[in-house]
Amino acid sequence: MAGWTLDEGLERLDQEWRAQHPGAVIYHIADGNHSQNPRVSQHAKDDGKSGGPGDTPGEVDASDFMPGKGGVTDEDLDELAEGLVRSRDPRILIVIRRQSIWSSYPVGNYPAWAKRPYSGKYHGHTHLSVNDKYASNKSDWKWEPVANEIPMVKLDGVWVPQLKLGHDDAMDEGYNHVKRAQVLANWLDNKRVDLDVDGVYGAGTAAKFAAIFGGNGKALTTEQWRKLHGI
Ligand SMILES: [Zn+2]
Repeated sequence: MAGWTLDEGLERLDQEWRAQHPGAVIYHIADGNHSQNPRVSQHAKDDGKSGGPGDTPGEVDASDFMPGKGGVTDEDLDELAEGLVRSRDPRILIVIRRQSIWSSYPVGNYPAWAKRPYSGKYHGHTHLSVNDKYASNKSDWKWEPVANEIPMVKLDGVWVPQLKLGHDDAMDEGYNHVKRAQVLANWLDNKRVDLDVDGVYGAGTAAKFAAIFGGNGKALTTEQWRKLHGI
């Protein structure tokens, strides 16, 4: 289907994905079975009628990363979806994978970026759509996994997380290592503004640890972990 262009940010991610998986298949433009209304599907061409910035007629704002060709596995597509969500990239509108959907904005009772059940067709691929506000943002995407999981070390018979900048509780679902450290840091430090307890070890969390322990706060030592816990 001719007569369309791809959002430049998505084009960048396509390049990154194909560099890792040469020959990988990525679909963009809606075929006849999909809605041609850009307000229903980002696979439809923008029509310039939204009045919003970046609503360039003919531009497509969605990519479907397909399994199979290029050696792309289900695990790769899970990692892509999770990595995109973790990145909180401002270009992201929606990520869909298997039977889950994440939006960069609140939906009903779900806050932005929360995982919601997806009631539409099962997604054997990873769908990413972007919002038009950042259509010309071609910066690198941060979708690659930081690590498979937060490393642990045994301390007096107890496993202790070795937390560092970039860690995210989504990497070890259910454990809340980062959130716990954030709560304890807030409790320990009464002089500075409390951190958002969001489970993401980002720059703000590093600055809080630096303020408490000195240094750059980019990694929590076992000794600092002990101090946080008062042991
Ligand atoms: Zn799609």
